[in-house]
Amino acid sequence: MRLTRYFLPVLKETPAEAQIVSHRLMLRAGMIRQQAAGIYSWLPLGYKVLRRIEQIVHEEQQRAGHIPLLMPTLQPADLWRESGRYDDYGEEMLRIRDRHDRDMLYGPTNEEMITDIFRSHVTSYKELPLTLYHIQWKFRDEVRPRFGVMRGREFLMKDGYNFDLDREAALHAYNRHMVSYLRTYERMGLTAIPMRADSGPIGGDDTHEFLVLASTGESEVFFDSAVTELRLGDREIDYDDREQVASVCAEFTSVYARTDETHDAALFETIPEERRKVARGIEVGQIFYFGTKYSEPMGATVVTDTGERVPVHMGSHGIGVSRLLGAIIEASHDDKGIIWPEGVTPFDVGICNLKQGDAGTDAACDQLYAGLKARGLDPLYDDRDERAGAKFATMDLIGLPWRLTVGPRGLAQGKVELTSRRTGESEEMGLEAAVDRLAQIYGR
Ligand code: ATP
Ligand code: MG
Repeated sequence: MRLTRYFLPVLKETPAEAQIVSHRLMLRAGMIRQQAAGIYSWLPLGYKVLRRIEQIVHEEQQRAGHIPLLMPTLQPADLWRESGRYDDYGEEMLRIRDRHDRDMLYGPTNEEMITDIFRSHVTSYKELPLTLYHIQWKFRDEVRPRFGVMRGREFLMKDGYNFDLDREAALHAYNRHMVSYLRTYERMGLTAIPMRADSGPIGGDDTHEFLVLASTGESEVFFDSAVTELRLGDREIDYDDREQVASVCAEFTSVYARTDETHDAALFETIPEERRKVARGIEVGQIFYFGTKYSEPMGATVVTDTGERVPVHMGSHGIGVSRLLGAIIEASHDDKGIIWPEGVTPFDVGICNLKQGDAGTDAACDQLYAGLKARGLDPLYDDRDERAGAKFATMDLIGLPWRLTVGPRGLAQGKVELTSRRTGESEEMGLEAAVDRLAQIYGR
């Protein structure tokens, strides 16, 4: 993309309404625009990151064997009356009445609807196990929407639901979600720690929240610092192998890590003092096992091999897709702007032409641009007629992990400069070498 043909409405001033750094930077970098409290338009740069995060979520869910579908944002109230949650959910639910006076609502979550789909089409235990998920907008009329996309009213969530014959099979689905989530967050450059949590209004016995440590996080967390060292890395996972999946979960959950709701002070005291940490975290996901809480009242049953009809065991598993943009920025920025991890960056590399209109630098930039595109990379070429300082400031603000700087002096030696946004280190190299290096960095 050429910057002169793009739509990147960066702000010069720091917006006064933004209290935390990720919100400020998303506004300044022209990623979002607030349309009403907690409701945002996703401008092109923000939308690009949102799509990349979604893509990673899709890939890791499907790798775990989970099947995508799409349910609507609007739901009939009657489904929620069946589970009893229409009255329980309270003021966070946005209730709507259509022209025929039917009660509708903007879905805050989809347990009822997915249970309805299941009971309408599945009758035999032979069709299990089954995990369905979607990535869809949710609405929760939060009392205090704040911190930009972190606590919106309309927000994008991945929510998945497993259907299994018994508790054991459902716990395998729970574990599969835990492992697939760990991989998902790692691919986004995040350390998200699974912590034992409280089940809240969705209900259930087993639940973990995934928290990214950040001083601006809304949850208070207590953990053994050893947990922050754990990495899934690129080890092979066979998601059908119950023991392997369970052993990965055991590795990540045997070290103490809890939210304030489940914190056990006596147990915490047993951790060596230098490893005992109290901090704040951002919840970027949560997994639940809740057994037959919805399948029983809603009649989601299957016939077993002995001819018995039993309610299925279920769980629901969510990732805060739009919140993740804020969480990643909270975890990765400096005083100049955002620092995107390669896995989610909106553009792979920025090209800064230091002398726009100069035949030599223009030709070199065009050559780099075409070369990068040919390798499947996505460059942003700053072809504005601006000073170097202004171009660098924009690139630093929007946080592309790599920058290629093309100036007449370097070009006289056939060289351009490759700079890492994270370390600030630069290296001079030939044009082709620069393209090769970037292709290598991005595994192309
Ligand atoms: P919170 O405790 O932060 O209100 P929750 O526990 O009610 O969230 P879940 O029902 O577990 O949320 O939803 C799954 C994920 O969706 C959460 O882990 C979070 O990342 C995200 N999420 C929930 N509420 C919001 C919101 N208002 N804005 C943005 N993301 C949200
Ligand atoms: Mg939650």
